[in-house]
Amino acid sequence: MHSVGRIGRYRLERRLGTGAFGTVWLAHDDELDAPVAVKVLAENWSHRLDVRERFLSEARLLRKAASPRVVQVHDIGELPDGRPYFVMEYADAGTLADLLDDGPLPVAEALRLTALAARSAQALHEAGIVHRDIKPSNVLLRTAPDGTRRVLLADLGLAKSLAEASGLTLAAGSAGYRPPEQAEPGAGIDARADVYSLGAVGYQLATGTVPGAPGRIVPPRRLRPGLDPGVARTLLRALEPDRERRWPTAEAFARELERAATTDTDGSDGSDGSDAAGAAGGAGPPDARPRVRRGRLGRRGTVALTAAVAAVAGAGVALALTLRPSAPPGVRVADATGRIELRVPDGWGRQLRDSGWDPRTLGLPAGHEPGLAVADDLGRWQDLGAGVRGVFAGLSEHGDVTARVNAVDHPGCHYDGSRAYTGDRWRGRVRAWTRCPGEGRLTEAALVPAGAAPGPQVYVQIRQRDGADATDGILRSLRVT
Ligand code: ATP
Ligand code: MG
Repeated sequence: MHSVGRIGRYRLERRLGTGAFGTVWLAHDDELDAPVAVKVLAENWSHRLDVRERFLSEARLLRKAASPRVVQVHDIGELPDGRPYFVMEYADAGTLADLLDDGPLPVAEALRLTALAARSAQALHEAGIVHRDIKPSNVLLRTAPDGTRRVLLADLGLAKSLAEASGLTLAAGSAGYRPPEQAEPGAGIDARADVYSLGAVGYQLATGTVPGAPGRIVPPRRLRPGLDPGVARTLLRALEPDRERRWPTAEAFARELERAATTDTDGSDGSDGSDAAGAAGGAGPPDARPRVRRGRLGRRGTVALTAAVAAVAGAGVALALTLRPSAPPGVRVADATGRIELRVPDGWGRQLRDSGWDPRTLGLPAGHEPGLAVADDLGRWQDLGAGVRGVFAGLSEHGDVTARVNAVDHPGCHYDGSRAYTGDRWRGRVRAWTRCPGEGRLTEAALVPAGAAPGPQVYVQIRQRDGADATDGILRSLRVT
């Protein structure tokens, strides 16, 4: 692999983060003497022409938007080993996802930040672009020369121009932030898809929780008691599954949020509303965080579902049907690296996503690790009520998978308890939920190699409906090399 100490005239300083398609570096532009962010397509993707094209089209669309509310692209190029990269302005104050690390924000600040993100989306819409992947990690914060913070939308990897979008058939976006029409082939996407995602961002900033599947969203006031009912309605209107009932434009949503932010006093914890000062000028420091405790519906509650879906949704183009029918009952599937293999019952193996996952979505150290999702309908995987049958399996070399799996909850399902699992190859803990909406069942497992030999930990999520429990058969079939 080409060692990256320098990319063209840009001197790499440190890694800022890794997403589904590549890594973002903080670098220094020696000619202009300025910091920049360089996004490099991951090596395992760079041989895929469709992914390359998509990666570069992100850069071109960002340029096309040419708005101070959207991250600016300065340069585009290719490494000697062929990996494409693009150079963008550096957001020195992190992302909304970073702000959420410390829990929900003061309400007025949450509303103002969401309003600014909505105004950024409006700028894109006016340029004929639907973002299609608005989520906290794609909303960047940059300190302006006068000390205020700007909000910048980034990452149009999944964006298409409005004209193209009407014919799109790929499910794209990120679970929790994705409107239902984005998971429906041929539904046609318009700017209201982004209104839904913006509603999800606002909901998360105010409650600390990623919203559940469309139409099954826990009322925000249950997660943040004392939240103004009007604010809750404003957020839920953006999150309407039927886009006809949503705010008609990102701008209309922004205006309502701005209005609410000036009148809201955060009653959830007896705070005096002093957070408004923190958000002055847009996105100020979150200096007046409410003491909202995360109960069983807290952020961790939805993380495992999101984790599995990240592999499904994060890399929307990676659908690779490499199913191999085999002699024993069921279908054997493998991921793109060939490291993970497992067998699923017949009928579950209609669609395979083999492109890996980011263990960060389970609260583990970030990275791009082998992972696969196989199901009868991956497009509806994120909807617990959809009665999907399938398996997600992802490796993690770092962190404590068992601890993370133990922290997971699935609001809306009945928790049946946990048990130890011991097989020839794996041992670990299996946790089960039944009576999920749509009569679904859900199993989560954290596995480590059964023998003394070291090996990666595996996170497994199994979705099933009726019939005999397939969990142990699937876990027994799992091989990792
Ligand atoms: P996904 O691949 O699902 O979009 P992601 O948004 O986290 O996930 P990337 O877009 O690859 O992945 O970005 C990785 C991280 O790099 C981001 O979470 C953010 O913290 C950081 N980042 C991205 N662009 C910039 C930028 N221009 N300035 C500063 N930090 C950035
Ligand atoms: Mg991103």
